Amino acid sequence: EDFISLNIFCAPCMKTRAWAKLNLTLDVLGKREDGYHDLCMVMQSVTLHDTLTLTPNEGQGLRVKTNLRFLPTGEKNLAAAAALRFWEALGREPEHLDIEIQKRIPVCAGMAGGSSDAAAVLRALNELAGSPFTPTELAKVGEKVGSDVPYCVLGGTALAEGRGEVLTPLPALPPCWVVACKPDFPISTPELFARIDSCKIRCRPDTAGMLEALKAGSLEEVARRMYNVFEDVLPERYQARVAEIKHVLIQKGALGANMSGTGPTAFGLFDSEEAAREAQAALQEGYRDTFLCRSV
Ligand code: ATP
Repeated sequence: EDFISLNIFCAPCMKTRAWAKLNLTLDVLGKREDGYHDLCMVMQSVTLHDTLTLTPNEGQGLRVKTNLRFLPTGEKNLAAAAALRFWEALGREPEHLDIEIQKRIPVCAGMAGGSSDAAAVLRALNELAGSPFTPTELAKVGEKVGSDVPYCVLGGTALAEGRGEVLTPLPALPPCWVVACKPDFPISTPELFARIDSCKIRCRPDTAGMLEALKAGSLEEVARRMYNVFEDVLPERYQARVAEIKHVLIQKGALGANMSGTGPTAFGLFDSEEAAREAQAALQEGYRDTFLCRSV
């Protein structure tokens, strides 16, 4: 169920889910004149999700509350930024709304947690307003909040180009189990982009091959072609730890393993639930943020 609409005390409140994304591939094509990079990525959403509850309040403005104390509560929260952009696009005054977010997607993990919260708010507000925007129009509204938001609005399996906002839907990833594991060290996304500018990218994902594999519906071929150029420019000590997680995933039967976004989360694709559960159990001993999920 995508949306669950509830009526509590006649105040319309809505609960919705924000799915995490993973990168099946990530390539950096070059730096643009506007300072951004041209990217080419195959994205996949998974069942790991945050839960958002939207409730109108009595004249207290727009408020965001989350279960993580270090996250911004005001307009700096991407969920609030999305709500403001939505009302702006509709030509309406901001409403009095409480957004409560139960975070499960780890923060700064390469899984687009913040962007997916923003996207969930856009979808929910659009539904509450009687769907004035098509999904494509809504994705366009999301572009102003962040480059990953348009993808998160549409979800599923997609090719993302440009800054990430130029989207082409792809054949769905064959059903599989996913184990995602976020090690405990912080990755600086700007620093990684700077490193990739100064390094020669020696290996790139075979994106065309990945699209073929998706078209053929072959999980094995998809898993074999996963690749992320950022893994090669991680500081050495971190590179070794991501490699170690991937090694455990493969050892436990993953058909392939990859780092997502600018990391540090690594994940594996499994065709066997049992193998996926074993991988989860093995990684959970060392890493609290280990998740077993499925593709959406
Ligand atoms: P991406 O994969 O798009 O690079 P990420 O996983 O690296 O994303 P996020 O967890 O989406 O990173 O966002 C991290 C930053 O965004 C943090 O600095 C955090 O304070 C801020 N932020 C704002 N709103 C949110 C939100 N709703 N959830 C998580 N982070 C948020």
